[in-house]
Amino acid sequence: MTDTLTSSIEWLDRLVAFDTTSRLSNLELIDDVQKYLDGLGIPTRLTRNEEGTKANLWATIGPEDRGGVVLSGHTDVVPVDGQDWSRDPFKMHEADGKLYARGTSDMKGFCAIALALAPEMKRRNLKTPIHFAFSYDEEVGCLGVRHLIKDVVENLPLPRAVVVGEPTSMKIIGGNKGGRAFRTTVRGVPGHSSEPHRGANSIMAAARIISFIEDLQAELADNADPDSPFDPPYTTFDLGVIEGGTANNIIPEFTHFNWGYRGLPNEVPDALENRVRAFIAETVEPKLKAIAGHAGVKTELRNVTPPLMPDTESAAEQLIRHLTGLNESGTVAFGTEAGLFQQAGIPGVIFGPGSIQQAHQPDEFIEISQMAECVTFVGKLIDWAETGA
Ligand SMILES: [Zn+2]
Repeated sequence: MTDTLTSSIEWLDRLVAFDTTSRLSNLELIDDVQKYLDGLGIPTRLTRNEEGTKANLWATIGPEDRGGVVLSGHTDVVPVDGQDWSRDPFKMHEADGKLYARGTSDMKGFCAIALALAPEMKRRNLKTPIHFAFSYDEEVGCLGVRHLIKDVVENLPLPRAVVVGEPTSMKIIGGNKGGRAFRTTVRGVPGHSSEPHRGANSIMAAARIISFIEDLQAELADNADPDSPFDPPYTTFDLGVIEGGTANNIIPEFTHFNWGYRGLPNEVPDALENRVRAFIAETVEPKLKAIAGHAGVKTELRNVTPPLMPDTESAAEQLIRHLTGLNESGTVAFGTEAGLFQQAGIPGVIFGPGSIQQAHQPDEFIEISQMAECVTFVGKLIDWAETGA
C-alpha cells in the first residue's frame, strides 16, 4: 500500500494545483482527470452547468449493468481571499507529516486516493462496480451534484451506496443538518436624512427582521433537546452578508441581506421560514407601506439542501461498518451532498480523511496518516467489490 499512498499524495499535489475556487471553472481539473481515466480504459460521463463552464465527472470501474458503490467528492474549494496563508495555497507543501494546500482536507485528498487506486480497481475483476462522482459547486449550496444525480437516476442502474468523502477523520457520519438559504431585499423610501418622517429607512427595517431572527435563534437554543446527537443540538441561523445605503445624509432605499438556517433532520423545514415571513408581513411591511405603496420586503429562497437522515441500517452504513469494524456513527452540523443522494434513493454516509477543523481555514492541511488510513479503507472496498458480496 505504500506505493498507493505515494501516488495518492502525488495526485493530491496535482489536484490542488488547479485553482477550483467555486467562482472559477473546474474544467481543467475535470479534463485532466478524464484523460487519465480514458488512458486506463475507464468510461466517464460529464454533466455540465448551463454556461458550460463547469462539469461533474462520473466514472464506472467494473460491470456497467448494475449499480455499485459511489466514491463521491466535490472538486471546488472555498476562497482564500482575505486569509493569511504562510505559502502559496495552490502549491502543496509537506511538513511534519502534513500536506498543506487549499482543498487538501476539503476534499481533494479523498478524490486523490480514489484516482490513485483507479488502476488497481481496473486490474481486479470487480463484481460490484465502483463509481467516482466528482462534482462542482458544492461549496455554494451543493448545486452541481444535483445534475449528476439526475443523470445517474435517469440513465444508469441505481447505485447501492455512496460514500461522501468529506473530512470526518475517518469516522462514520450518518447524518447531517439540512439547510435553506435566502436573500431578503428591503425596499424603503429614500429622502434626506434630516426628514426621516418623509421616508422609510430600509436598514432599520432590515435590522428589525434580523433581531427577530436572533430572538428566534435564542428560543431554539433554549428549547434544545439535550439528547440530540447534533452539536449544537438545535437549528442554527446564519447571516453572512448585508449591504445597504449609500451615504449618511440619504435615507437608504435598499438593503439586502443573505441568511439561512441549518435544521435538524426531524424538523418541519417550513416552520421557521414561515415564522420569519409572518413577522415581516405583519410587523415590518405595514410600516414601510404606510409611507409608500411600492416599499416592502421580498424574500427569495435561493437554496434548499436536504438533511442526511441518520439510518444505521442503510446499505451504505452497513458496508462501511463491515469494512472498517467501526460500530458507531455520529452526526455533523455542516451540509453535504449525502442528503441529495439519499433523497434520490441512494443510501449514503459521510466518511473521509482529514478533519473538518482544517477545512476552510488558512494553511489548510491533511495529515498523511489520514491519507494512509483512507488508502487502506479503499483497498478493503476493492477486495470486497471483487468478491461480489
Ligand atoms: Zn467539503
